[in-house]
Amino acid sequence: MALEVNVGDQVRLKKQHPCGGYYWRVTRLGADIGLLCLNCRRHVMLPRPQLQRRVKEVVPAETVVQEETGAG
Ligand SMILES: [Zn+2]
Repeated sequence: MALEVNVGDQVRLKKQHPCGGYYWRVTRLGADIGLLCLNCRRHVMLPRPQLQRRVKEVVPAETVVQEETGAG
């Protein structure tokens, strides 16, 4: 199954970043996927197949948005 991610999505990787973070934001799509560590703000590029093997969970961008102003 192909990995489906979009810019703005968050991914949780199986392996913890040395900084202690698990969650990354997708910043760039292409042959390599750009990822920003949400803990230490470090930026990395991973080939798509490699990312696909390492991803444990994809959090779509619309789910990431937590500041909904709909009440009232
Ligand atoms: Zn990090």
